Amino acid sequence: MTATWQQELKQALRNDHPTGLINQPGYDPAAAGLFAPVITDTLLQAIKQATDPAPLWRQFLPIQAEQKNPAGYVPDPVGDAAATQVPGLIHKYHGRVLLIASGSCAVNCRYCFRRHFPYRQSYAPRNQWQASIDYIQADDSIHEVILSGGDPLTLSTKQLAGLTAQLATIDHVKTLRIHSRMPVVLPARIDDEFHTWAESLSCHKVMVLHVNHPSELSPAARTAIARLRKLGFVLLNQSVMLHGINDQASTLAQLSHQLFEQGVLPYYLHQFDPVQNAAHFAVSPARTRAIHQQLMQQLPGYLVPKLVQEVAGEPHKTPL
Ligand SMILES: *Cc1c(COP(=O)(O)O)cnc(C)c1O
Ligand code: SF4
Repeated sequence: MTATWQQELKQALRNDHPTGLINQPGYDPAAAGLFAPVITDTLLQAIKQATDPAPLWRQFLPIQAEQKNPAGYVPDPVGDAAATQVPGLIHKYHGRVLLIASGSCAVNCRYCFRRHFPYRQSYAPRNQWQASIDYIQADDSIHEVILSGGDPLTLSTKQLAGLTAQLATIDHVKTLRIHSRMPVVLPARIDDEFHTWAESLSCHKVMVLHVNHPSELSPAARTAIARLRKLGFVLLNQSVMLHGINDQASTLAQLSHQLFEQGVLPYYLHQFDPVQNAAHFAVSPARTRAIHQQLMQQLPGYLVPKLVQEVAGEPHKTPL
């Protein structure tokens, strides 16, 4: 059972699918050298079945435009490095800390603001959480621990269980939040072993998914989301406004409706962070605001994500 998702993950990292990225028109080996192309079988299937596959390819295919380097696009646009307290722990938001639990993902999104993140120096070596646990233990204003990455669900369930057992000893930690793209891009991750672990947790459980386009919600992804819902996770979604992918109000409105059908509420819509090698994804702030305005006209308030921007050094999201 566990072998299944782990095999799919290994194959994604090897990038050797017969029908994968490397054989797509536009694939650029030099761009691939800047940030490894990684995609799962599940997502390749979803792309093949999509009525409009272009917005999905664009998120994962290395293309020549990545070699351009306009001024203002930088390796660490959100100031992660300055906020790192102990390796693998980022404390820049009040009441919550981020644990960089893993350096890898099941997909590499070309627009990722952490595409240049020095994971090798910056994430807690596997199963060595003690320094982070001590930090959290010593500060009782921290009531929420956010597992981030990379994708924290690339860790095995045993590793997650080891970490949550340590967190459970800290009384002031009430909420465990997981930021993950896995339920959507590698739904087999939400297997029986995961179910048993998640069911055993006594804290509040929140999962923030990351879906940008409705075509990502494959039947398998919907099944995984339903399972998370049954487990009692509060389910939220964040998207990034991306040129040529979801910079249309109709696309985002459809996404909100489809998420809601799965029991997921739209949470954040991020203004694209100006990360180096990804300038071709940028949408101007004026256009981003106009699209968000249209969403407010078309949707009930609870289906309109908050439009935000991450400003380096700010201890919270900044409304755009
Ligand atoms: C903003 C942000 C958070 C914290 O999110 P809140 O929902 O505002 O608490 C965590 N991780 C990343 C990567 C973020 O950008
Ligand atoms: S951290 Fe998130 S956005 Fe970045 S590559 Fe991984 S899954 Fe994609």
